[in-house]
Amino acid sequence: MTTSFTETDLGRTRRARRIGRVLTETHPDAHCELNHSNALELSVATILSAQCTDKKVNEVTPKLFARYPRAADYAGADRAELEELIRPTGFYRNKTDSLIKLGQALVERYDGRVPGKLADLVTLPGIGRKTANVILGNAFGVPGITVDTHFQRLVHRWRLTTETDPVKIEHAVGALFPKRDWTMLSHRVIFHGRRVCHARKPACGACTLAKLCPSYGTGPTEPAAAAKLLKGPRARDLAAAAGVDPELVPVQAVVAEAP
Ligand code: SF4
Repeated sequence: MTTSFTETDLGRTRRARRIGRVLTETHPDAHCELNHSNALELSVATILSAQCTDKKVNEVTPKLFARYPRAADYAGADRAELEELIRPTGFYRNKTDSLIKLGQALVERYDGRVPGKLADLVTLPGIGRKTANVILGNAFGVPGITVDTHFQRLVHRWRLTTETDPVKIEHAVGALFPKRDWTMLSHRVIFHGRRVCHARKPACGACTLAKLCPSYGTGPTEPAAAAKLLKGPRARDLAAAAGVDPELVPVQAVVAEAP
């Protein structure tokens, strides 16, 4: 990792756009990993995803969504029953609280519907700015940047911004990309963070962004060691895209859950 990385604003914008294009090719399957079919379901799933994997949330939600299809159903939910249904996602007492209060607020203030504006969404129980952007981008088609832990780590590794406050990161990175690309960019960055550029040992030697990344070398650069770190069902495709022999990716990596 270099500490003497300098770049003009124009240079950074160009590199950011190149990173965006490589991510588009690297993760053609990028999408919101929380299963949902409407704004209410996505709001609920996002609340459940705090401190929990998306996979676990997706295991719980089919039964939950069938039992509570409307905001009014959460508003009038039997607490013990709701707690039991969402228990596997952890922190289930707090989450139950948020879901009941969310249902009540939607019924009282928005006629039972999830509003499509950031200013309204952030006033709802359990919904912060990050969650609101996820909802806007994926349920309303309004471009939004989701600054989660993966997004923060990666844009810092790429030196796209030195900001540490999520709202400032959102604005700084947003300025580097066309607005229409924000939602998909967020999914692709998060996909890369979950499958390649891990917090502890990023797979630098099997990363399609190696040439554009000032933090290349933070993780192993040797292809065989790096290939072992790739995760998810497309781990072998990810290796091939980075010019690494897909056979170096062990079977466990392919079946491993992306964190
Ligand atoms: S080169 Fe390494 S640090 Fe840079 S994006 Fe790839 S995995 Fe992350």
